[in-house]
Amino acid sequence: MHSGIGRGQVVHAVEDISMVLPAGTVTAVVGESGSGKSTLARLLTGLIKPTGGQVLLDGEPVGTGARARRKYTSSVHLVLQDPFSSLNSVHTVRYHLERPLKLHTKLGRAERAERMRQLLERVSLTPAQDYLDKYPHELSGGQRQRVAIARGLAVGPRVLLADEPVSMLDVSIRLGVLNLLDDLRSGENLATMYVTHDIASARYLADCIVVMYAGQVVESGPATQITDNPAHPYTQLLLSAAPDPARAETPVLRGRGAPPSLVNPPAGCRFHPRCPFAMKVCAVRSPEPRPVGEDHVSACWLHASELDDDQREPLSAT
Ligand code: SF4
Ligand code: MG
Repeated sequence: MHSGIGRGQVVHAVEDISMVLPAGTVTAVVGESGSGKSTLARLLTGLIKPTGGQVLLDGEPVGTGARARRKYTSSVHLVLQDPFSSLNSVHTVRYHLERPLKLHTKLGRAERAERMRQLLERVSLTPAQDYLDKYPHELSGGQRQRVAIARGLAVGPRVLLADEPVSMLDVSIRLGVLNLLDDLRSGENLATMYVTHDIASARYLADCIVVMYAGQVVESGPATQITDNPAHPYTQLLLSAAPDPARAETPVLRGRGAPPSLVNPPAGCRFHPRCPFAMKVCAVRSPEPRPVGEDHVSACWLHASELDDDQREPLSAT
């Protein structure tokens, strides 16, 4: 993410973001690569430290002491894009599932065995004895992702952060893993953050969608609102480029350039160099988020009534 950046350059990968993940819901964070969406997920795991801002769990700031950190890390689980990178190839499924139970619970041997059976059942890997002694390479990509999710559920997390959990899987098994996340939302009352470049899958799975561009939230709201009635030009562009969910590749927003470098982002609205509606004001002033519907917010000058005719001049005409 920070490759190619020289020493001493400060990159604000994400800025001015405030987000609530309610229990029993899926919030999708959608954007192209480089939008800061993975950074946001990692900030929430505590894997990287924010330079400002704070994380609250149940409305309480997460403490900095070792005990508070332990409590927090057992409450929040990150599922990565590549289940190979989160499972250790020299260990069996049993090892991966039993380790968190040993570390974070007081369960005895027999109770752990029962819990492992339940966990595998929860992710539809049954019968459990067929999987417990397998190594990651003996499983399919979808099965590995299910094991990674089961491990995350081992100690009863409150928050599941899933960073592109299906993008490396075969198209044919993606839906199964999305349906599992869908099912866990209510079954385990999890607060899930689903990070994806694919707004079509967000529409399928999420209750709320947060659209990020160049490290900032440009639009957020109920998933149906965002996909049926997108307010922000970037969301409209993402939707128009959204792949058929059955297709494998990342949507390419052809002919409209690429997301900017976060070392030196564009002034004003960061999307203005790519925006078909850019006005004079967009190149110089950053738009504030404004309500555009119920719980629906968009940061775009098109929603502003206070601009004068000069500010509204199309940018390309200047
Ligand atoms: Fe486009 Fe201007 Fe809206 Fe940015 S603020 S998305 S440049 S119209
Ligand atoms: Mg990413």
